Amino acid sequence: MSDTQRLTLARIHTLAESILKIHGFSTDQADAIAATVTAAERDGCQSHGLFRIPFYVKALENAHADPTAVPTCRITDSSIVHVDAHGGFCPLALRVGTPAVADKARRHGIAALAIHDTYNIAALWPEVEQLAEQGFVAFAFTTSNAYVSPSGGTQALYGTNPMGFGFPRKGQLPLVFDQASSASARGEIQLHQREGKALPEGWAIDATGAPTTDADAALAGAQLPFGGYKGASIALMVELLAGVLIGENLSAESTLADTHGVGAPLGGEFIMVIDPAHCSGTTDHLARAESLFAAVLDQPGTRLPSQRRYNTRKLHLRQGVDVSRIMLAQLEELDQTPAR
Ligand code: NDP
Repeated sequence: MSDTQRLTLARIHTLAESILKIHGFSTDQADAIAATVTAAERDGCQSHGLFRIPFYVKALENAHADPTAVPTCRITDSSIVHVDAHGGFCPLALRVGTPAVADKARRHGIAALAIHDTYNIAALWPEVEQLAEQGFVAFAFTTSNAYVSPSGGTQALYGTNPMGFGFPRKGQLPLVFDQASSASARGEIQLHQREGKALPEGWAIDATGAPTTDADAALAGAQLPFGGYKGASIALMVELLAGVLIGENLSAESTLADTHGVGAPLGGEFIMVIDPAHCSGTTDHLARAESLFAAVLDQPGTRLPSQRRYNTRKLHLRQGVDVSRIMLAQLEELDQTPAR
C-alpha cells in the first residue's frame, strides 16, 4: 500500500474545517483557516498545509487565543487600515481587512493594512497574490517567535520573519515570492525532525552556538538567517515594520507571551499595497514587467518565483493531492477528540 492517500481539495477543506470546529473554532475562523491550509496543499506548500492543523489546535492552549474571535476593522481618513484580530487567527483578519486596504490603495495610490493581536502561522503568499491579482503591488511582513540568531550571534532573537511580494501580470497569475528571512522556514525543520532527516548545512546552530544538522538540536538552539548579515538585516526590518511600527510584539516578546511553549506567534502583520495606476504614468508597467521576466527566462536554468507553485496548482486541481497516510491518521484522530 502506498504511504500516501489522494484527497480532493474539497475533502482537505472539509477535514481541516471539521477538526477546527470540533476543537472550538467558530465557523468563520475555521473556514478562513481551512481555505489557507487548502490553498497551501493545492500549491504543494506542505509545511503550511494540513500539517499545520494540529498547531492551530495546540495554539488554543494559550489562554489568550480566541478561536471564536470576530476581527474588527478601523477605517479612518488615513490610508492605513487597522484590523484588530482580538487574539484570533490571521486568515480571518485578512478576509476582513483586505477589501478595505484595496479600496484605500485605489483611491490614494498607496495604503497599508496593520493587523493586530493575531496568531499567524500561515504563509504570506495568499494575501500578496490576492492583492496582485487585483492589479496591486503588495508587500507583506510578519514577525514570529524568537528562533533566529542575528548574524554572528549565538542566541535566537529574530523570528523567521517572512516577507511576501506580489506584482500583477497581464493575463497571467501574478509574480509572487514569499520567503522566510531565515535559511529555512521553521516548519521545514519540523518536517525534517518528523521524518528523521538531517538538515542541510547552514540552517542552524545548537544551544552552544555550534553549527548543527540535527533537527532536535536546531530546534533547541537557533536558526540562522539566510545569506548571513543580509538576511539578518531583512529579519531586523521585519521586526521594525510588523512589530515596532504598528505597535505589535517583536518576535522575542511573542516568545515571552507563549507561556505554554505552543509555538504559535502572537503579534501583527503589516501589508503595503501600491496601485500602479498612480505610479507609472503613461508607461505600460505590465508590458515592461513581461520584458523583464522574459529576459530572466531567456537564461537556461532560471525560473520565476511562484512558477513551481502555479505548476503544482495546475496538477493538484486536476488530480487532487497525495497526503501522507501517517499524517491523515493523526488528523482523523484529532477530528474526533476535542483537546479541551
Ligand atoms: P522557499 O525558500 O521554499 O521559497 C522562497 C521563494 O523563492 C518562493 O517564492 C519560491 O517560489 C522562490 N523560489 C524558490 N526557488 C526558486 C528558484 N530556483 N528561482 C526563483 N525563485 C525560487 O520559502 P521559505 O522556506 O523561505 O518560506 C516558506 C514559507 O514559510 C513562506 O511561505 C513563508 O511565508 C512561511 N513562513 C511563515 C512564517 C510565519 O510565522 N507565519 C514564518 C516563516 C516562514 P515557489 O513558491 O514557486 O517555489
